[in-house]
Amino acid sequence: MEQTYFRKGFGLKGEIQGALTDDYHSAVVDEVRARGYSITVQDLTVRLAQEFGFCYGVDRAVEYAYETRTKFPDKRIFLVGEIIHNPHVNAKLAGMGIAIIARSPAGEFDFAPVTADDAVILPAFGVTREDFERLRSLGAILVDTTCGSVLNVWKRVESYARDGFTAIIHGKYQHEETRATASQVTQHAGGRYLVVRDMAEARLVCDYIERGNGGAAPAMRERFGGAASPGFDPQRDLVRVGIANQTTMLSSESLAIAAEIRRAMSARYGGAALGEHFRSFDTICSATQDRQDAVLRLLQDSVDVVVVIGGYNSSNTTHLAALCAERLPTYHIQDAGCIDPEAGTVRYKPVGRAGEVEARGWLASGPRVVGVTAGASTPNNKVGETIERIFATRGIALATALV
Ligand code: SF4
Repeated sequence: MEQTYFRKGFGLKGEIQGALTDDYHSAVVDEVRARGYSITVQDLTVRLAQEFGFCYGVDRAVEYAYETRTKFPDKRIFLVGEIIHNPHVNAKLAGMGIAIIARSPAGEFDFAPVTADDAVILPAFGVTREDFERLRSLGAILVDTTCGSVLNVWKRVESYARDGFTAIIHGKYQHEETRATASQVTQHAGGRYLVVRDMAEARLVCDYIERGNGGAAPAMRERFGGAASPGFDPQRDLVRVGIANQTTMLSSESLAIAAEIRRAMSARYGGAALGEHFRSFDTICSATQDRQDAVLRLLQDSVDVVVVIGGYNSSNTTHLAALCAERLPTYHIQDAGCIDPEAGTVRYKPVGRAGEVEARGWLASGPRVVGVTAGASTPNNKVGETIERIFATRGIALATALV
């Protein structure tokens, strides 16, 4: 029987390596790394976080997508949503003839154009169980790039549902990964989930648990709406809970939320019975953790201002920006084009706001140290171009200065 499901690549790395290098490599980044992640020209220094940019899961997903194009040169290839949250990478794939199936405003994918003759790439975040089953039933070739760290979260959530625990997931319920993770509870009859976005929402849950206030159940259902499994009943579904998180959340907040819910469960049922009511496992992936740790180390290094590069819808980039903005002036830019060296401006998304704003004179004269980092979905060439534009804002042509 013809194999139609692939999740280990096609062994074509040698054939795609040249294209990957052309599309994402940066000689500037190599040079900055070689100089100890710091480069100084005149009185301007750029320091690069020691962990930044493409993570192992993104590397793998992008490679599989390129391999898929090489393996099936004559097939129509679809991609379920974005392969990762970076507009340049998605545009590259579109340029290779890979058609992105967009999500409707309601969050649904329309698989109507897909036939059994096509190939479909599943993104690094994974897809919901329902979408996976729908695609399997169409008979198309599926190339599954779901990251192994996401699969680990799925296993955890599935085990909670199997054992009768409601999965409380720290994440953004509209995010592809969290939707896919939450859907894992449907492997077991009666499986439940609740997605909490932040500590403020977690405290509402804790308050409910501690008070055991059935009268507040309708308000809870209304408050969490689509962030909870269908038919969610807080009176029934907050008695036994297991904690998980979207892999790209702020790890400190995920740990604090788990501790807060643990405390609430202990207060409600007593410490001796905690094991019957509460389970927890930190499912932040190591790549996210490494990037968050590295940027915190960078901030201790006499930095004046930080530039964070990555898609505005990239969860891990947004959290890097939030960490920096707590301490220093921070500019979260989508790519190097946001920096205009001639005008001395930068377009950026302020932390916690939806749209872009423009700042003029963001790089003050005199000795300055600019910290730079990038989210796990940002390719090196976008980091290198940004470093060049930062120097260009001071009238320095980096390529010439490096000779
Ligand atoms: S951020 Fe983590 S979970 Fe997401 S793709 Fe990268 S390694 Fe995998």
